[in-house]
Amino acid sequence: MKQKQFINGDTNWFECKCGNTPASSGFYPCHPSGVIREPDGDWNGLYVCFDCGNIIDQDTLEIVAHATYAAGLFNADYFSQSEFLRR
Ligand SMILES: [Zn+2]
Repeated sequence: MKQKQFINGDTNWFECKCGNTPASSGFYPCHPSGVIREPDGDWNGLYVCFDCGNIIDQDTLEIVAHATYAAGLFNADYFSQSEFLRR
């Protein structure tokens, strides 16, 4: 059985295994696939590490999965299209 893995920090301050924190690349609400989404309605409390793609349960800090390659591509595009335009 695969051992559970957790990030450091607490529910208000994530510190990913890769070194990412909210002050650097940050974490974003995501689908189970790792695709970034708005934290509305049926959101399940998952965050994706923008640097390494770890998918984190916000309540337990468990690394529940890793973003798919396709999700990573989508997310890179998400920021080139929305985040930069918002600044
Ligand atoms: Zn990470």
